[in-house]
Amino acid sequence: MTVTEKKQFEDILASLEGAQKIFVIGCGDCATVCETGGETEVAEMKKLLEEAGKTVTGTVVPDTACEVLLTKKDMRKQQEAVDEADAFLVLSCGAGVQAVSSITEKMVVPGCNSLFIGDTIRKGQLFEWCSACAECVIGDYAGVCPITRCPKGQMSGPCGGSQDGKCEVDPEQDCVWAIIYERAKKLGTWDKIAAAVAAPRDHRKSTKPRKRVFEPRRLSETKAKS
Ligand code: SF4
Ligand code: SF4
Repeated sequence: MTVTEKKQFEDILASLEGAQKIFVIGCGDCATVCETGGETEVAEMKKLLEEAGKTVTGTVVPDTACEVLLTKKDMRKQQEAVDEADAFLVLSCGAGVQAVSSITEKMVVPGCNSLFIGDTIRKGQLFEWCSACAECVIGDYAGVCPITRCPKGQMSGPCGGSQDGKCEVDPEQDCVWAIIYERAKKLGTWDKIAAAVAAPRDHRKSTKPRKRVFEPRRLSETKAKS
């Protein structure tokens, strides 16, 4: 999931300067879980904008704002309100915001900051455990990612600064190498991990912007049948 936080309302208003009529778009997926762009937050934003003297021409919460065709379809259902708007305020991650930018030539403003890919430990507790490095190596680390979960990205062993199993950079979090050690000990793989030196990584794989273009199975099956 892409974890987001709300932008300050004053900052949103500043970005909307010059635009009077606003169409607000949320996201029924990650931004709903993060409570930054679900139905409730979109309704709250509509109220705030109206209190600030703006006109809200319409709102929509697509199931997944970053799915361009889906968002486009939902916007079309409110074509009149979309046409009337001077600007679109998008309460989602940057991917959802840019989905809207690809649909309209009008002003598009983000209402959230995108923070990271997150694991949900429980409701309202989101943690960064993967940074999408494009070359997953956690099979070599007892299933735990030192690239993301160690602030120093230590891949060949702990930095030596941990105290009582806690990280020296953030004592509120466990040292990831303490987690890896405990798991690897139970799995009987610690000796292998301790003896290994992390292989060089191919950073070309994480050069941005990245893409993955493939033929969805459903399409290839349809083609094969015809
Ligand atoms: S190694 Fe870590 S950052 Fe890379 S893909 Fe795997 S979990 Fe994500
Ligand atoms: S204490 Fe552990 S998690 Fe923290 S920086 Fe050092 S090796 Fe990384």
